[in-house]
Amino acid sequence: MKLECDVLVVGAGPGGSGAAKAAAEQGLKTICIDKKPVIGMPVECGEAVGQSLPKEFNINIAPEAISMKHDGTVFYANQKVKIDNCTDVWKSMSVNRHLLDKSFASEAVKSGAKLIVDAEFIDAEVDNGQVLSLTVSHRNNNLIVIPKVVVAADGVKSKMAELLGRRSFKDIEIGTVAGYEMVNVDLAEPTKIQMFFEDMCGMGYGYIIPKSKNSANIGLGSLGIKQTPWKVFDEFLEEHPIVAPQAKNASIIEVKTGQAPISGPLSAPVIGNTLFVGDAAGQNLSHVGEGAVPSQICGRIAGSVAAESIKSNNSSHLNEYPTIIKETIGPLFNHCDRVREKIIEIWTSSLPTEKRYLIGSILVSEIIPPELTKLLSNFEKIDDDKIIEEVSEFIKSQKLEADINKV
Ligand SMILES: Cc1cc2nc3c(=O)[nH]c(=O)nc-3n(C[C@H](O)[C@H](O)[C@H](O)COP(=O)(O)OP(=O)(O)OC[C@H]3O[C@@H](n4cnc5c(N)ncnc54)[C@H](O)[C@@H]3O)c2cc1C
Repeated sequence: MKLECDVLVVGAGPGGSGAAKAAAEQGLKTICIDKKPVIGMPVECGEAVGQSLPKEFNINIAPEAISMKHDGTVFYANQKVKIDNCTDVWKSMSVNRHLLDKSFASEAVKSGAKLIVDAEFIDAEVDNGQVLSLTVSHRNNNLIVIPKVVVAADGVKSKMAELLGRRSFKDIEIGTVAGYEMVNVDLAEPTKIQMFFEDMCGMGYGYIIPKSKNSANIGLGSLGIKQTPWKVFDEFLEEHPIVAPQAKNASIIEVKTGQAPISGPLSAPVIGNTLFVGDAAGQNLSHVGEGAVPSQICGRIAGSVAAESIKSNNSSHLNEYPTIIKETIGPLFNHCDRVREKIIEIWTSSLPTEKRYLIGSILVSEIIPPELTKLLSNFEKIDDDKIIEEVSEFIKSQKLEADINKV
């Protein structure tokens, strides 16, 4: 069967649904396909979403998708130092990701997009970078889709990127996560996210993200590793002096694993008539890998750009996409990228192990901005007590709703 459309969106995650919604709202014939039979399942996510970003960009987080709101985030370094950050950027909510993804997809459908699940893009006819048609396998049939513009929102392992020859992520740019949703958790911080930085977690972090007063997503993600860190994660759950007592009586109700890019936005998000969105374009908060809402934001931008380009019959308008990203969510991406780059610099330095994780946790917590290089390099020379003192002074001077103490 042949289908013609204005915009074909490949992938109905948050990025693809955002693009499909924005394009359909402009009256364009929009088709969105996903290879999954159920949108959002299996869940490959820690399910934490910052509270402020959806408000800032007018993204509706459906009430039924929210499981709880968090008052702040606690960062543990080497099991010895604890930073408690309750400033707005570290106030989050936990969501039921499959419900969030379904609500985003429903919004796209309500706006007029046609959603086809169980439909996998398998091949494309490409001429000089222009995608002419795509072959989509749908229930033992092949659909041939002929779009004017393609939005590639097909995730971290984007087939469209591979097909168009866009560079893929380097190993060091991918976080591999092992995690569970657990019930009957004895949460030490029932209303806050806990993040762990130490040798056991390698270049990455462990986390406990409460979903209710006695359930949580508990996980561990590391950079530059090829295998899911199940062995280390089991040790983290069973032996970590802060985590193990919380997980002692808990049971696993869901496995939540996967890969998250932390490259920062990749260059070339436009190739010919294809716009790359979300994880496929590295569009997330790269210091932590939070990407659900950023992908939806970038998807909406891509959908609007595609619509404008088609309506004005001006294909070169597609090249405005990176500029609009830069002018809207770009400053946030840049900030996250600077934090990430500084953390990687510290993590891969020759500093003693504990020092690396302590400075890394201070950077991730965003108490000390990465631009304060003098203050940060001073931390390399002084002991933990002195670091705590200096960070405390900085917190006071900036009147931050935060705290740093020994555990
Ligand atoms: C374990 C883990 C924990 C995470 N924790 C968080 C967190 O706590 N908070 C947060 O905000 N982010 C988190 N992230 C990141 C977040 O999940 C992603 O950034 C986000 O899902 C990106 O959205 P997307 O739409 O770009 O891609 P995806 O959500 O990956 O969606 C891509 C879609 O494309 C479909 N697809 C792929 N190939 C094809 C094809 N050939 N044909 C048709 N369909 C195709 C897939 O089925 C999928 O539905 C985490 C990631 C992982 C792996």
